[in-house]
Amino acid sequence: MVVGLGPGGVELLSPQARLAIAACPVVAGYKTYLDLIPELLVGKEIICTGMTREVERCAQALARAAAGERVAIVSSGDPGVYGMAGLILEMAARDGLLEKVDIQVVPGITAATAAAARLGAPLMHDFAVISLSDLLTPWELIERRLEAAAAADFVLVLYNPASHRRREQINVARQIMLRHKEPTTPVGLVRNAYREEESCVITDLQNMLEHPVDMLTIVFIGNSSTRVLGKYMVTPRGYQV
Ligand code: SAH
Repeated sequence: MVVGLGPGGVELLSPQARLAIAACPVVAGYKTYLDLIPELLVGKEIICTGMTREVERCAQALARAAAGERVAIVSSGDPGVYGMAGLILEMAARDGLLEKVDIQVVPGITAATAAAARLGAPLMHDFAVISLSDLLTPWELIERRLEAAAAADFVLVLYNPASHRRREQINVARQIMLRHKEPTTPVGLVRNAYREEESCVITDLQNMLEHPVDMLTIVFIGNSSTRVLGKYMVTPRGYQV
């Protein structure tokens, strides 16, 4: 089973995800995420590899499942949103295991909607989700998508906005936004939503770079009608209020 853990601790983990993990004696995942759910892992065998070892982790999990064991491979948020679900299905297809192993995907609350709730209601209208990680995607394609989404006046949600190594992408993304959006367009930055040390900032395109952005941050950029109402970021749906 490929199980979504939600954005933080167990409070936002679904009852179905909890049952799925309980049913599996073997749990595979990235250590940082496993550390958020220690009470669910008591007595389990853990397959735990580092950040960039996803393929290896999935291969191990799949091999164990193919041998008849019940295995949960966990992702933060939703496993089908920049998570492990696709990789597992692709590897199972490659190895001819789709018929043999019953793979189930258990959804989780993804960072976009979880963090949006912290900001208020920034995603009330059409939005586009783009990852700024160019590890697996050519940067030219990411730029093209940023440009198209900004030109079409979508609200944008940026996953993986920066890391220790990748500092430049968020600057370029902001410049692309400024070609299509006003400098006063509201921007929300949520770091570690629903985890310890959560922080939440509402700023604008002009000033957003004054605040730290890293791999634990998700970035929201408003559309042309997004407003700041008190301490909330809100994109009107269009109702007459
Ligand atoms: N499968 C995950 C996304 C993995 S990509 C999901 O559905 O949420 C990792 C990126 O997600 C991070 O770089 C960050 O941009 C975002 N993210 C995940 N959890 C977050 C959280 N609790 N708070 C803020 N951003 C988060």
